Amino acid sequence: MRHINNTTSTSSSAVVTRSSVSDFAESFLKFNGRSEGTAIPFVMEEDRSQAEYSVNASRGITRSAMLNSYASESRKPVKFNLHLIEACNYSCRHCFAKFGSRKMLSFDNWRIIVDNCLRAVPGCSFNIAGGEPLLAAYFHDLARYCHDRGSKVSVITNGYLITDKWIRENAGILDTLGLSLDSFDEGTLVKMGRCTRSGKILTAGRIKEITTLVKEVNPDCRIKVNTVVCSLNRDEIVREQIMDIPVSRWKIFKMMSFANDSFNNSDIVISDEEYMRYISNNLGTSPEMLKDENSHIFSLSGTCSVVVEKNLDGGYLMIDANGNLVDNTINTNYVPVVNCVTGDVRDGINRLGLDTELYWSRY
Ligand code: SF4
Repeated sequence: MRHINNTTSTSSSAVVTRSSVSDFAESFLKFNGRSEGTAIPFVMEEDRSQAEYSVNASRGITRSAMLNSYASESRKPVKFNLHLIEACNYSCRHCFAKFGSRKMLSFDNWRIIVDNCLRAVPGCSFNIAGGEPLLAAYFHDLARYCHDRGSKVSVITNGYLITDKWIRENAGILDTLGLSLDSFDEGTLVKMGRCTRSGKILTAGRIKEITTLVKEVNPDCRIKVNTVVCSLNRDEIVREQIMDIPVSRWKIFKMMSFANDSFNNSDIVISDEEYMRYISNNLGTSPEMLKDENSHIFSLSGTCSVVVEKNLDGGYLMIDANGNLVDNTINTNYVPVVNCVTGDVRDGINRLGLDTELYWSRY
């Protein structure tokens, strides 16, 4: 990931690079008192495949140990994304929350998952997602459960179901409120399916009310916006609307191509060039600046940074609505590696196609 100081600057400095991760590998080994011989699996070279980072019990260093150690040194908690529910009040054309799960786990099962994650990665944080997580009747209880165990809790929601009462009940325990906002234009939102079945959208006025009240209730709660760019919104400029709300981080993703038996979004996929043009139009950057690396971070204003990410494959820890830790690096679907209710989460992380460098560059 590159950090870029302002939207017109042409200079940049690498914040997380292969060499910085290699530096970490070195310090990790010192930290763990390993001999040089055990270092080999975690020296990140350009041409190493993910397979080479899989667990190597004989050498005694695992990906989960590496995550734990880096989290401890950097004081950045490892984050698990808990996708509580596949159902949603919207039906976005680009939605990738299709896990093939109709059932929801019980609150007790999610408590077990949280405990198992904390056992595998002490001090980890949780992002509660969906589908639309506010449809889960136990959303508040689960957020409270995570919070009471000392974990940071965030939520990513389309925001439509947020009421003032919900804010008063939940903002105090949230580290971050994430809003998925792909457009402020009603016509675009309806075309994208980013609306209720009856075509109702979350208006710019309501977004402003929500974010203002969240900040009133908990000034420390960060507001984050996620925008997914596809062919339906690629020509829009929404910078002014984003800056009109108290956003500390705006993440702009290129839509992932995704397909399973009942879903396929290949018709609204955009090219890297179209994605770069969106960034360029919204941030005033040169598309040339975005060519080389997967992700970049810009400063949009004194208080808002913008994260640009082309590809998230292997870049996050995701537990689906069945409680499975899933791998999205194997094909265009989610492949379960372990069930987090009944299995060993640490073992699952070690078998995951997690791109450790990409992972840390994102947090
Ligand atoms: S709001 Fe989110 S979960 Fe719901 S359909 Fe859209 S992308 Fe999927």
